[in-house]
Amino acid sequence: MEVVKLHKKEFVPFLSSELIQNAIEAIADQINKDFAGKEVIILGVLDGAFMMVSDLMKRLKVNAELTFVKLKSYHGDRSSGSVNEVLPLTEVIRKKHVIVVEDIIDTGLTLAFLRERIMQFNPSSLSIATLLLKPEVFQDKYPVEYIGIEIANKFVVGYGMDYDGLGRQLPDIYVAKE
Ligand code: 5GP
Ligand code: MG
Repeated sequence: MEVVKLHKKEFVPFLSSELIQNAIEAIADQINKDFAGKEVIILGVLDGAFMMVSDLMKRLKVNAELTFVKLKSYHGDRSSGSVNEVLPLTEVIRKKHVIVVEDIIDTGLTLAFLRERIMQFNPSSLSIATLLLKPEVFQDKYPVEYIGIEIANKFVVGYGMDYDGLGRQLPDIYVAKE
């Protein structure tokens, strides 16, 4: 893996696609156990989670429906907690076992907003799966059930995650060069 340049900013290799795939396999195994004999609905959070959703779903043995929500923070930069549903939640999640699939959870503010909105649809259960989580900054009062890899509080791109729109196509994850 080499240095990647996006909008004049340099990123260096951080997590290989092999490591990513292993982490997703572990999450899928756990979901297959926890929901054995049940049906779930995967709720992917666009845009960043599109790759994670695809790779996770291929490994699910439980029957799974799929839906998406697209969220946008009102402020361009770091997490603000004031979030907008650009592609809103729909009735399909009502009374289902909902598994939210995220690429990365940072402060958890986006998740806290989403959790509240999902609960308005009275799901049978709600659990969260994320490829990455930053424990140093995560501050939600609820735990995250399925965590792929815990990382330090650094800005990463690749595997669905962008830097100002670019970098989502990378199969590996890169970190901003210091
Ligand atoms: P949170 O609300 O948990 O602080 O973060 C919400 C969103 O911020 C994530 O879903 C993601 O879109 C973005 N984000 C947080 N950390 C990173 C990061 O390291 N890299 C990228 N590309 N996006 C991030
Ligand atoms: Mg996201």
